[in-house]
Amino acid sequence: MASWKESSIIPTLPLHTRVGERALESTRPTSPLIIIPRPEHNISRANISPNAVKVLYRLREAGHRACLVGGGVRDLLRGREPKDFDVATDARPEQVYKLFRNCRLIGRRFRLAHVQFGSEIIEVATFRAHGGDSEDGDGPSVERAADGRILSDNVYGSIEDDAWRRDFTINALYYDIATFAVLDYVGGMADLEAGLIRLIGDPAQHYHEDPVRLLRAVRFAAKLGFRLDPATEAPLHRLGHLLEKIPPARLFDEILKLFLGGCAIQTFELLRHYRLFGWLFPATEHCLNHQQRHYPKTLLARALASTDSRLAENKSVNPAFLFAALLWEPLREQMRHLEAEGLDEHEVLQEAAERVVQAQIRHTALPRRYSLPMREIWELQQRLTVVTGKRPLRLLDHPRFRAGYDFLLLRAEADEQAAELADWWTRLLALDAAGRAQATQPAATAKTGKPRRRRKSRSRKGDQAAQPAPEA
Ligand code: ATP
Ligand code: MG
Repeated sequence: MASWKESSIIPTLPLHTRVGERALESTRPTSPLIIIPRPEHNISRANISPNAVKVLYRLREAGHRACLVGGGVRDLLRGREPKDFDVATDARPEQVYKLFRNCRLIGRRFRLAHVQFGSEIIEVATFRAHGGDSEDGDGPSVERAADGRILSDNVYGSIEDDAWRRDFTINALYYDIATFAVLDYVGGMADLEAGLIRLIGDPAQHYHEDPVRLLRAVRFAAKLGFRLDPATEAPLHRLGHLLEKIPPARLFDEILKLFLGGCAIQTFELLRHYRLFGWLFPATEHCLNHQQRHYPKTLLARALASTDSRLAENKSVNPAFLFAALLWEPLREQMRHLEAEGLDEHEVLQEAAERVVQAQIRHTALPRRYSLPMREIWELQQRLTVVTGKRPLRLLDHPRFRAGYDFLLLRAEADEQAAELADWWTRLLALDAAGRAQATQPAATAKTGKPRRRRKSRSRKGDQAAQPAPEA
């Protein structure tokens, strides 16, 4: 990225004013287009997914403008491997659709073409203009809620319009397949060099238009290790409430991106710092505030750290496990309430889990394909306390055993009784079949002496120690 500053600088033409674009006019500074020619940047076609290259060329051969944009360009310029490749073009979604057999059109709020190559999807978006309401009633328009949120964003525009309606300057760089140059309309290159996350245009207005940008600001700051520009940062603390307006399903998708991007721990800390976390997980936030004085290092922080290290080692991570950790403290709190009401142990867990899930889905979606295994992981914490007889051996075949055991290991780091129990299971797993049968004899636990015999009847369920159970 040595000499891009000396590259050709083309002053942009004055914008012609369209109906409804006056608000935008006031916030779009006239910044020159900076063209960084191929010899002056490090993006090579060899580092772009061959499928994305194919899409770019097919569009170009059909007479369209086609550029790589977004995280793909940003990450390649930083010398990192992009997560995915997004393409921007002047072809309309229907025109893209006709060019590719493996293509489908998706989205209402934002109409896009997905070109599928096996498991890889190349997302192709048509250049769009910023959300000025079209008042001429002609063609698609930007649909807004009374609070300014953009509900549907299908006003097409020029590549420059497209750059200005993106979220952050570093996400609005284009790699043009026609010239192999990088096009910078918004000062993204300078911010990329300075390590700065800066919203394009007026920050408060942009957050109001799409409050998910609050989360994206934090996500990119954590992921890239960049600073937030002061004007981009300032509204974060006070605008978390806007997230209440976002459909729970979209928040759920964003949560997965926040916590499964490899920087969960930094992301979590920033979300809490900017008072955004509580708008996603109010019950967890409540517990964290309550507990922090006593237990600064929570199970959640450890779960997030372990998610990051698994991802760093290219191991799989299960969102159900993550949610089990995110909602563990609320679960324990509910269990304490219900225990006080005199429910039996199993009922307490079931009812508490139900309450926690019901409360959470008022804020973010939590699809059953994740909430069911999450609840199984919680139930296993109870079932893992049985260490004699056939039950522990049968539990080894439980489809969720590994997740339940891993969860127990996390609990073990802060909880002495859970540590003893985890230790017992770790040793059991190391034995052969005969050894396991012996270790689970009713007398064996007393001999090996590890899990203590009985917890006090009033101890918390979530913390309970192993209790050799009588044979069923
Ligand atoms: P990642 O590495 O996570 O894929 P990304 O920057 O590519 O990061 P995407 O969610 O894939 O993020 O979006 C692609 C591009 O679309 C972004 O870089 C940005 O230019 C634009 N974009 C995405 N979401 C928004 C939004 N909410 N508001 C404005 N622009 C957005
Ligand atoms: Mg992307």
